[in-house]
Amino acid sequence: MTESYVIIGDGIAGSSAAETLREEAPDADITVITDEGEALYNRILIKEFAKGKLPEAPISIHDESWYEERDVELRLNTHVKNIDLEGNTIETHEEEVLDYDKLLVATGGTPTQLPVDNSDAEGVHHFWTFQDARRIKQSAESGEQAVIVGAGLLGIDLAAISGAQGIDAKYLMRGNAWWRYALSEEGAEIMHDAMRDVGVEPVFGSGVDHFETDDDGHVTAAVDPNGDRFECDWAGVAIGLNFNTEILQGTGVKQDNGVLVDQHMQTNVDDVYAAGDLTRFYDTILGEYAQNGSWGSAKEQGSIAAKNMVDPESAEFRWVSSYSITHFDFPFLSFGHPTLGDDEVEKKYSDTEYRRLALKDGKIVGGVLIGDLAPQSAYKRLMKEERVVGDQKDVLMQKKFDPDDLAPAQEQ
Ligand SMILES: Cc1cc2nc3c(=O)[nH]c(=O)nc-3n(C[C@H](O)[C@H](O)[C@H](O)COP(=O)(O)OP(=O)(O)OC[C@H]3O[C@@H](n4cnc5c(N)ncnc54)[C@H](O)[C@@H]3O)c2cc1C
Repeated sequence: MTESYVIIGDGIAGSSAAETLREEAPDADITVITDEGEALYNRILIKEFAKGKLPEAPISIHDESWYEERDVELRLNTHVKNIDLEGNTIETHEEEVLDYDKLLVATGGTPTQLPVDNSDAEGVHHFWTFQDARRIKQSAESGEQAVIVGAGLLGIDLAAISGAQGIDAKYLMRGNAWWRYALSEEGAEIMHDAMRDVGVEPVFGSGVDHFETDDDGHVTAAVDPNGDRFECDWAGVAIGLNFNTEILQGTGVKQDNGVLVDQHMQTNVDDVYAAGDLTRFYDTILGEYAQNGSWGSAKEQGSIAAKNMVDPESAEFRWVSSYSITHFDFPFLSFGHPTLGDDEVEKKYSDTEYRRLALKDGKIVGGVLIGDLAPQSAYKRLMKEERVVGDQKDVLMQKKFDPDDLAPAQEQ
């Protein structure tokens, strides 16, 4: 009998799963369902579109013919509202019921809204979809002042969009540095200077107490907890993601701030897999459950899930992720889990060059490189090899780091 595979979500995790499934199971029925109105596009590049630096066309990755050529049924604008694990069916918003033999949940997340007054006002933007990018672009092209909230990797995209569009922006941060869980103040200062250079002023010890609106309900200002008021034509909020797991409520699929999967992307329920941003996966490098919101990781998880859906436990997710920022004159890369660990080492080499490594039990578990990315492959390899190097921090921080300068690895 022909096996049927249903994938919920056509982001990079779902789409890469469909591609691998077709390779591994040439005769299977494969259906991909997405509530977005367009097939897979490059989420990483929507910021370049909003900056006005890229037209729409190159951001699309697959058009509908990609699915037709692979005999994959694509359902656009279709929201899955229910999963029945007993009956092996899913139900769409139009009450259509589809059967599956194996199910992949790759539904990603939805940006978290600030829990403050008027956070849903006109002109307060969140940033996840191409549609969001279109709205942000429109606001950025017509406005003059903006407020950005969320001192992380997506917040800085919004700041860079403001900069590129010539907006006078205030970047409101609760702490005293951008991405303070991964960088020290010294490292973050490089990013603050780069923001100022493009007209985005970081404001520390701030945040949003509430937004003000005009009579039409359009945002006019953000007021921070100190009572300081920042006028704006629009605001960009990037304070985190809520995983799209409502459809799993009451199904018995285990969650722990994300869908729990093993290294095979299998949930605790037979024939149900999950991949991408919404997973809390068993990380074989860390030896514990972890999370990762990055394109490469989601793509690999989709592919690993697909292999295991066809041939259970045949493939394992073992991955060091990377996330780069290309908004400024210098390169920036974070890898692995830079916010985890029980130890760290860092060094600032110049006004535009900095490195920090996060270590756990003496092993590298993540890091941030600014200015010079040359050592990234060596650090990532050491992480993947789980090599104990925490006792050789001076060597790790050498400007021209050479892993051959490390003392030979000890048998463990
Ligand atoms: C602006 C921006 C910039 C980024 N920049 C980088 C970067 O530089 N580098 C990097 O590595 N990563 C970056 N990321 C993160 C990266 O894009 C994500 O990690 C990745 O796209 C996650 O893919 P996913 O398939 O898990 O989830 P998603 O891409 O979120 O896809 C999930 C899909 O499922 C759909 N869906 C949800 N619920 C349902 C339902 N019930 N029924 C039907 N469909 C549903 C959603 O609409 C969505 O289309 C960026 C993200 C954004 C938003």
